[in-house]
Order: sequence, then C-alpha cells, then structure tokens
Amino acid sequence: MTAPEPFDAIDVIRAKRDGGAVPEPELRWMVDAYTRGYVSDAQMASFAMAVFQRGMQRDEIRVLTDAMIASGERMSFAALGKKTVDKHSTGGVGDKITLPLAPLVACFGVAVPQLSGRGLGHTGGTLDKLESIPGWRAALSNEEMFAQMQGDVGAVICAAGSGLAPADKKLYALRDVTGTVEAIPLIASSIMSKKIAEGTDALVLDVKFGSGAFMQDIDRARELAQTMVALGTDSGVATTALLTDMNVPLGLAIGNANEVRESVEILAGAGPADVRELTVALAREMLALAGQPDADVEAALDDGRAMDTWKAMIRAQDGDPDAALPTARETHIVTAPADGILARMDALPFGISAWRLGAGRARAEDQVVHAAGIDLHAKPGDRVTAGQPLFTLSADDAARFPRALEALEGAWSLGESAPTIGPLVRERITA
Ligand code: URA
Repeated sequence: MTAPEPFDAIDVIRAKRDGGAVPEPELRWMVDAYTRGYVSDAQMASFAMAVFQRGMQRDEIRVLTDAMIASGERMSFAALGKKTVDKHSTGGVGDKITLPLAPLVACFGVAVPQLSGRGLGHTGGTLDKLESIPGWRAALSNEEMFAQMQGDVGAVICAAGSGLAPADKKLYALRDVTGTVEAIPLIASSIMSKKIAEGTDALVLDVKFGSGAFMQDIDRARELAQTMVALGTDSGVATTALLTDMNVPLGLAIGNANEVRESVEILAGAGPADVRELTVALAREMLALAGQPDADVEAALDDGRAMDTWKAMIRAQDGDPDAALPTARETHIVTAPADGILARMDALPFGISAWRLGAGRARAEDQVVHAAGIDLHAKPGDRVTAGQPLFTLSADDAARFPRALEALEGAWSLGESAPTIGPLVRERITA
C-alpha cells in the first residue's frame, strides 16, 4: 500500500489565493508532489497564479528554492582545488557577454562553470550562439566538465544536465504557457535553485531592466536582484548583482554567428564600447568574489590572454575557433530616410525582428538559423546622413524580411538632438 499524502493541493492553493503564507512542510510537499506527478499541472498553474497575484514572503521564497534544489542532484566542485565563480544574466537583446566573460575570468586561474540554455522567444541562448562554431559541442558529461575546469582551460560553457532542479524544469515550462513567468518569487527561485544546485562558490547576477528585459522597470529589477542576492547568500554562495540597462540592444550584433564574431572582437581587445564595458564590469565583480579584487582584466583582453583561453575552451569542446562562421544567403539593408541623429532604438522589437529572421525559436523543438540576425551600423546618439545604412537584416530566405521589418516599425527614430543616455551599469546590489 502507498503511504497517504500528508496534505491536499487545494488547501495550499487556497492559502496562497487568500494572501496567506504557506507553511514550510506544505510548500515542500507541494513541490515534491508536483515533481512526482501527484499534484496536477492544473493545480500547480493555479498555485503559480496565486503566487503571481499575492507574492511570497522571503522565507517562503527560501523554502520554495530549497525544495526545487532537493528535487534533483547537487553538484560540488570542492575537489577542484580552485575557486568557482559563475555569472547569470536575466536575458536581453544582443547579450553575448558570457562568451568573452568566461575565458576572461578563467585566465586568472578561477574556474568558471557556465551551465547555459537555449533561446526561446526574443532572448537568445548562449548555446545557440556557440553552436555557430563548426564542431562545437554543448553536451558534456559531468566528468568532462570537471576535467575542463581543472585543467588549463578553466572555463566551460555547456548545457545544464537534466538532473539539476527537475522541479524547476517542469514548473518553468508550465509558467511559460500560463502567464506566470513574471513573478519575482518564481523567477528568483527558478534561477537560484539551478545556480545553488550547480555548486558554484560565488555568483554574479546581471539583472536587466528596460524594454528588452523581463523587468521593464528598474524598481522591479532591483527587487528581483535583492531577492536573488539574499537567496544566494543564505545558501553560502557569495552573490552580487549589477542592475544594467537593456533599453537598447547590447553591442552591434543581434543573432548567433554575428554575436560570436562580436565576442571575438572583444577578446581581441576591440569591439563595441558597451559590450567591453559590461564584460569588464562583470569580470571585476567575479574576480573580486574569487579573492582577486585588483585583477587587471582590461590588460587580459588587450594582450591576448583571454583570447588564448577562449580558443582553448572552444577546442576542448571539439570546436574550431579559427573556422569561418556561417554567413546568410539573403540580406536587406535599412537606410536613414534623412539626415539626423539616431534618437531611439527599442531593444524588444529588435529582438523580435531577429527572432523572426530565424535567429530564435518559437517552439522548443525548432532549429535556429545561425547566420540569421541583425547587424547595427548606428546606435542612439550617432549622427547619420540620408541614405546611410542603419541596419542589415540577414536570413536564409528573403520571405522572412517583411515580418522582420514590420517588427521594426516605430522601433527607432531620428531626431535633431542627442538623446540622454544613462549609464549602462546602473546599480550594484550586495548582501
Ligand atoms: N530564467 C529562469 O531560469 N527562470 C525564470 O523564471 C526566468 C528566467
């Protein structure tokens, strides 16, 4: 005979629906019973909507996170004999920072375990970008990952195994189709359960706000960052967050292969100023948490050390760092209709446009087109003249251009004076 269940999902749902705090045993049971399939998708969706509407107290978020960690394996890098530091971005348009950042930090002798995902919707996925490189392999065993971090390479970017926080995997897929993604307790517990289960010593969070981010508003982004920093710190993971502006696409490349190209420029000591600025800021935070607050990260970009580690990291996963990256069959250039100053460029429509060109996927099973995307030739504040190319759209099929161009309607404008542009890194959140 199977043991009777100790609680009823309906009571847990009602408690949250009516604004109460769910006691620890009930909350742990709810997560476990959902993972086992005893609590149904309908019940969990209703609970997630109640959390969306009513929120959760700090202690409930801690218990929810812990219950999701307990649903799967916990990795440990203690045997490496090196400090491990990871970075997580809440996602944005043109956000390729992980690519130059992981080798940059690793060249200071710190191990970087970067378990990454694929893109869904308008935000890109790190693995999709790296798979533009011929031969590169995202799936590594735990042993391969460990060996790569222990050896000279130090950094690994690979797919997260299915053993980490399986409750989150199931819950995140459910939230995605039930309008319950944007709840701070659910986002914070989802991200932090995976990072804590991964076993990193320290973590730097790049929490985005603005039109291309989950959180449009800086106050909500700050609340998310504070919640995640508290969760990490309470679990013994030294955690810091930067709040960064995602109103405008990051850098000049939005896509996959073109984002790899831009990352390689950064590793060669060049590339767009905003991508370099954020890479350097995040590397400094990561190295400070690893006990190297004075590391000269700019020098490592300029003298080729970060590039050497990048090449070694790509080769270790069967990629050829010197091979040509895919280029698109079709291009379409948007030109400036008049002289002026580029006054505005909203990140979200540019992300949607690149997605419609084939750079992203609409369903988890879709393939991305690695050469598809958008290259920007001007950014807000730049003076342009009539007829000058502003953006190049790339796709494998010209039939994709009309809908991609439709997404860009009203997404940018020319003006007479330079727009006010705030700092990229707006705030730093610590425990
Ligand atoms: N990324 C995650 O892993 N989970 C969320 O809930 C949102 C973003």
